[in-house]
Amino acid sequence: MKASRAVAVFSLFFLSVAAFGQKPKNIKASRWNFFSPEQDVELGKEAAAQIEQQVAVVNNEQVFGYVNRIAGRLVKQPEAGQYPYTFKVVYDKSINAFALPGGPAYVHTGLISSAENEAQIAGVVAHEIAHVALRHGTAQASKANAAQLLAGIGGAMLGGGSMLGQLAQLGAGLGANSLLLKFSRDAESDADLLGARMMAKAGYDPVEMAVFFQKLEEEEKKAGHSTPQFLSDHPSPGNRVKAVSAEVKLMAKGLTYSKGDAAELQQVKQVINGMPEPPKAGVNFRKAGDPQSARPAGGGKQYRSQGLAFVYPDNWQVFPNQQSGELTVASPEGLVDKGGQPDIAYGAILSLQKVQNRDLRGNTQQYIAGIAKGNGLQMGNEGTRDLKVGGLPGLLHVLYGQSAFQGQKEVVLLVTADHPQGLFTLVMICPQGEYQASQPAFERLITSIEFPQR
Ligand SMILES: [Zn+2]
Repeated sequence: MKASRAVAVFSLFFLSVAAFGQKPKNIKASRWNFFSPEQDVELGKEAAAQIEQQVAVVNNEQVFGYVNRIAGRLVKQPEAGQYPYTFKVVYDKSINAFALPGGPAYVHTGLISSAENEAQIAGVVAHEIAHVALRHGTAQASKANAAQLLAGIGGAMLGGGSMLGQLAQLGAGLGANSLLLKFSRDAESDADLLGARMMAKAGYDPVEMAVFFQKLEEEEKKAGHSTPQFLSDHPSPGNRVKAVSAEVKLMAKGLTYSKGDAAELQQVKQVINGMPEPPKAGVNFRKAGDPQSARPAGGGKQYRSQGLAFVYPDNWQVFPNQQSGELTVASPEGLVDKGGQPDIAYGAILSLQKVQNRDLRGNTQQYIAGIAKGNGLQMGNEGTRDLKVGGLPGLLHVLYGQSAFQGQKEVVLLVTADHPQGLFTLVMICPQGEYQASQPAFERLITSIEFPQR
């Protein structure tokens, strides 16, 4: 009797050691967050209202119902926490999905079209839910802007101001490289694992999430395509399939997984395929503008993001383009309707272009050729001027064309710089009659540019 009891104790000891070595990771929201969960919800609502002005939300019952049934199974799981989740479908052919702090989430039609099965869509949705539950957006904004947030958001909350507005002033609002939407690799691996747990409990095969992300990465490599938006916002923590498979091994036994309903996905894909292209959502651009009302005025506001800072006129605004990553800086009066598309008649556009090498002159010539062709511009006689842009070697060129303000000629100043991540471009546009008046503001814009270290 005694001997066998000793054996039993001994083997129990070994069992617990073995289990200890492979305990599932305890995944929690970071405590380093200046926002309360209630503020996450409020911020998400503000951001959702702004985003829905810019995107085309799909009003199709079948597509909406499909995504919401999938999401409904996932948000019931304890990992999702108690956030007021909403799920909408955006008509956009790019493969993307995103969730705002506190719960508003969006799935692009392009993502549904490219998914091989329902579980892959569930995987992306579960991953997004995990970012919300783990409060990654506001945790990131907190880390990046600790000092300003303590002063700024605290003040805004006391004064009842807009949090999103405050964040935007810090360059942490929405738009390209938004801190609220672009995550670290650590956050990615946590969202993968927590999402996988949600999927498993909801009956979806968790590995399909990792398979889908892996597929995106492989397609990107194979075709040498530019990075899909989803991957640039959700950088790969590396070997997702392996990590998720290891997690699945630690999950409760006896769960059954499926890849979902193949026939229903097929139907939904067909509905999406047959949808007419929606009219461009967005700001109501003026049919005809008044150049003088678009003229830069005032001392200057500061724009600051993780990698870029500059000063722009008080009466202008920064309009980030979610798709292209460009920043347009202009007064709303400077944006003119040209055949249903907004055209910048008075303002500036900043972007970072992907390049193969760091040949500033060659890359600049290539860029000029592209914009000249697309916009009917011609190079002026001014030639090329060297200058420094935020400490980097740069070039200035002058081009001329036809202004979107009717009957007027247009001057385009192009500044390019050799940025370690590509060709930095700053295009400044005004009608010829406004050239004198715009010059101080354009000069200030150029000289104020900084590329802060990330
Ligand atoms: Zn992610």
